[in-house]
Amino acid sequence: MATSRYPQAEKALADTHEVQNQPPLLEDYNTYLGDQAAQEMTARFGAGRHEQALIDHGALTGSAAMIELGFQANAHKPELHTHDRRGHRIDEVRFHPAYHQLMQTALEQGLHSSPWTDPGPGAHVKRALKYYLHAQVEAAHGCPVTMTFAAMPTLRKNKAIAEDWLPKVFARAYDGRNVPYTHKQALTLGMAMTEKQGGSDVRANTTVAHPLETRGGLKSYELVGHKYFVSAPMSDAFLVLAQAPEGLSCFLLPRWRPDGSKNPLQIQRLKNKMGNVANASSETELRGALAWLIGEPGRGVRTIIEMVALTRYDCMIGSSAGMRQATAQAIHHCRHRKAFGAALSEQPLMQNVLADLALESEAALAYTLRMAQALDNADDENEQRLIRIGTAIGKYWICKRTPQHAYEAMECIGGSGLMEDCIMPRLFRESPVNAIWEGSGNIQCLDVLRSMDKEPDALEVFMAEVSLAAGAHPLFDDFMASLQEELEETDNLSYRARTLTEHLALAMQASLLLRGSNMAVADAFCQSRLQPGIALNYGNLPAGVDCAAIIERAAPVQ
Ligand SMILES: Cc1cc2nc3c(=O)[nH]c(=O)nc-3n(C[C@H](O)[C@H](O)[C@H](O)COP(=O)(O)OP(=O)(O)OC[C@H]3O[C@@H](n4cnc5c(N)ncnc54)[C@H](O)[C@@H]3O)c2cc1C
Repeated sequence: MATSRYPQAEKALADTHEVQNQPPLLEDYNTYLGDQAAQEMTARFGAGRHEQALIDHGALTGSAAMIELGFQANAHKPELHTHDRRGHRIDEVRFHPAYHQLMQTALEQGLHSSPWTDPGPGAHVKRALKYYLHAQVEAAHGCPVTMTFAAMPTLRKNKAIAEDWLPKVFARAYDGRNVPYTHKQALTLGMAMTEKQGGSDVRANTTVAHPLETRGGLKSYELVGHKYFVSAPMSDAFLVLAQAPEGLSCFLLPRWRPDGSKNPLQIQRLKNKMGNVANASSETELRGALAWLIGEPGRGVRTIIEMVALTRYDCMIGSSAGMRQATAQAIHHCRHRKAFGAALSEQPLMQNVLADLALESEAALAYTLRMAQALDNADDENEQRLIRIGTAIGKYWICKRTPQHAYEAMECIGGSGLMEDCIMPRLFRESPVNAIWEGSGNIQCLDVLRSMDKEPDALEVFMAEVSLAAGAHPLFDDFMASLQEELEETDNLSYRARTLTEHLALAMQASLLLRGSNMAVADAFCQSRLQPGIALNYGNLPAGVDCAAIIERAAPVQ
């Protein structure tokens, strides 16, 4: 070996510095056991008997191996192959193996079906909590999981379809092969409503459904048109809206025909999304694709609405998960990172930011799980009313609070928070998605008004639930008094719909926290969110808030 002419320099290059003050990676931890709020809410919302399953899922979702799958699935985007090498149309999207492994785990865990296959006390709350833990690892593959879960109420509206499809839809297995559904034992479902000329207003759909034949309880149609956003295009079938002679109707469109030939739902291209990249979303054309009618012809929106409502509910779970993971990352980092001689998490201004992030995350989870509890008790009419208005209010508020939350958590981590080897850029890019799809913000607020107009009982039930915390905090009582005045004012309702929806959401979140077990959290929430002149950024908690206690409660345990 040649000797260096500069022995001192060689030594210096080999040993430049010791890495210091860098927090350990947040991995091989239990996402559930480090989440005190989630643990308390498990029993509170009726899923206490499922605790062990949640502890197990917490260990799985905090494992380094699962976390790595999340990174891999996002680093390697899905690819569209329209044709095979001989020129045959295949319309196949190929995913990285990590995506398939995430899908397999989600479906084996029953995140797409457990409340349907194993109903009973706390079934929805258990699934919501498991999904909340799961989505913290990787959110994008949740899209097909959610659509498969949400399709059940719509599928069961047709007996023949329900008998044929539901057993395989419920199966706790994953089959990602591009083969006909008849060859598979486990199926996933998608949903295709949005067209180029309209997404919120699906009445503008131009895709036409031509009736073919009726046989064995199935009314077959041939669909011609396009769908501008079709996520998870490798799903085995899609719930689709199209114009039948009687008007907009709902159909189940399989990706392969029962005879084993390819159904002409052609993928034109994949969407080039800023986030949610592990999940494929596509633009498609329907060139005489076979589909079966579900529900009454001309009543498509009414038929698919329960599916839409459940996807909106899952958006709350997804955004709560994003906020929890962002909070955990921020607190973990700041506890291990020192600046100016002390851990960041011990410095007052950072404590103010961290505690505020934790408050938002806990309030989001409390609201979401209350909706899950309502689903568990859906045979009670009042709980059904609560779900109807509560889903629109919660979807609007929780999903819309997430992007700013992700950004603030990223800033807590400093420069490394922007780097792609940190989960924060992914959480940030994922954060607007739930707010926009499945009915964007304004649509949720208009839904709240519609519900108030058409079903005044729903608002009454919502307010009755909120009022259970009356007398628990003076700021809450003042807020309720002004909310009542706001509700009595009927002028300009549609212009004020966001303000009203936000206030309803805050009232419910405050009420749930006040009825919970942690007064430091409930008091801080009321002080920071129910007073006039609320600050616009996170990290403006008023004096007297017990930030250290709130941070301690939200800190992940490794
Ligand atoms: C990543 C991704 C995946 C998607 N996957 C699917 C899928 O699988 N299947 C599917 O069917 N769709 C899917 N979508 C489409 C999505 O549901 C629509 O983008 C969404 O419903 C909004 O429709 P639009 O884009 O046509 O916007 P528009 O309907 O044009 O709305 C634009 C804006 O106007 C607002 N607005 C609309 N009406 C009013 C009003 N009356 N008053 C005030 N404001 C109003 C909306 O809130 C929105 O902010 C996906 C979207 C994304 C981003």
